Amino acid sequence: MKQVIAQMTDPMGLEEFYSRVLALSPSQAKNPKAGIRDSLRFDFLGKSLLFLDKQTLIPVRLAMPGVRFRVSLSRQEINKGWLFVFPAFQFMAPNDLPAEEFWLEEDNGRSIPVNPVTVKFKVKTIFGVQDIEHTAFDLMWWYKKHALRRGDSLLVTLLDWEKGRFRLEPEPARIRQRHNTEIQAQNQALADHLFQQLEAAPYEEVWGKIAIPTAYLHLKASNAYPADHWLEILERDRRMEWTGYEIRYADWTSPFERMLGDLSGEPKQTPSSRQKPLSKQEARQVYCFKAALWLNKSLWRRIEIQGGQTLADFDDILRTAFQHDHMDHLSGFWKLARRGQSRRFREVDLGNINPFGGGEAAEIQVASLSLNPGDTLKYVYDFGDWIQHRLELEAIGEPEENASYPRITGQNKPRYQDCQVCKNEGRKTIATCVCYTCSGEEQIDLLLCETCIEAHDEDHYLEQILY
Ligand SMILES: [Zn+2]
Ligand SMILES: [Zn+2]
Repeated sequence: MKQVIAQMTDPMGLEEFYSRVLALSPSQAKNPKAGIRDSLRFDFLGKSLLFLDKQTLIPVRLAMPGVRFRVSLSRQEINKGWLFVFPAFQFMAPNDLPAEEFWLEEDNGRSIPVNPVTVKFKVKTIFGVQDIEHTAFDLMWWYKKHALRRGDSLLVTLLDWEKGRFRLEPEPARIRQRHNTEIQAQNQALADHLFQQLEAAPYEEVWGKIAIPTAYLHLKASNAYPADHWLEILERDRRMEWTGYEIRYADWTSPFERMLGDLSGEPKQTPSSRQKPLSKQEARQVYCFKAALWLNKSLWRRIEIQGGQTLADFDDILRTAFQHDHMDHLSGFWKLARRGQSRRFREVDLGNINPFGGGEAAEIQVASLSLNPGDTLKYVYDFGDWIQHRLELEAIGEPEENASYPRITGQNKPRYQDCQVCKNEGRKTIATCVCYTCSGEEQIDLLLCETCIEAHDEDHYLEQILY
């Protein structure tokens, strides 16, 4: 595959790429393309290849020259004459390129010696104070020559990706200010491109090494004034979060954060739990949900709850509606969010509720979830049995006078089952419970009516049937 990539002088269709690779190294595999695709994804994308569009590959060395971006200089960088290699050049040159091999030049083509220096930092982490080292180019004389001051930035043009060759131009703060409108538009375009890549990704993450060069590559074509550095753009964007390797949805919490949150008992701050106060009108409105068992849609209840009421209130009425225990087991809510224009959804964790009305999601008000009719929540009762319910918002309306909320206003037509003890004796009564002890022994569900329950073995484990 390396050989094919090295020979590419233009973008190439995916199919042609496959056949060239197979021509050089024939494969006996059942689906040889799948093998190439995996290798492409794990070994080559973001390193030596990028997708120009869904069906076209382009070598990074051809794609990236001409990409321009801004590096905002910190006060420390201006004062000391430094330019930190990381994160300024992250994903803009090969990952393993040593700092001393970078090549910087002025716009007249004259070289700027890079003079790498190692800068030590003390960082406070949860493991205590640690020393970390960063490499910076020492450009003091060049900063002086151009009289760079606080607030000024550098405009960087990528000349050669493989060799780490860049052109630097000083950008005084007032010039940047003059181009503010264009910069904002470019920043938005870059952010949107990154977000679209995330929405289109099979999993709920995209790798920075692929997504970031791809986004700049598409911006390059517009030939507009350079956008800010991608890291600043990602940090400002409220839809996304940068983990150091991947871009994820902003409402994602790492397993590690989650563990710390659980230990400290502090509610996590997700965008959904960051509530702004509701207006009187928003708090009054009635949200009408059709709540159904996820795996058996024919068992449903219609539930009305007011905007100002909380997920703890919702949990309580759901436990009543589906005959779940009010005194035992955790439950939790998720919001289903559509990914782009697709029919794929992702689940945004809103948090848990414990049977005593506490938990991170307990205080979240229904109206603060910004739901529209057609939107869906997922409710899980009992994290052991994992009983899932689908809560689809049917309508938002005004409250009825003298009604008290939340309330259950409808349900499926029950399909009653007969008591088997009575049936054996020639009577027809409605069963209300199933005996799991007997059912287990006899390999059939033993259903019992109220009268037969009283006569049944007290030690047996009975559960109410949901109709
Ligand atoms: Zn009976
Ligand atoms: Zn029994």
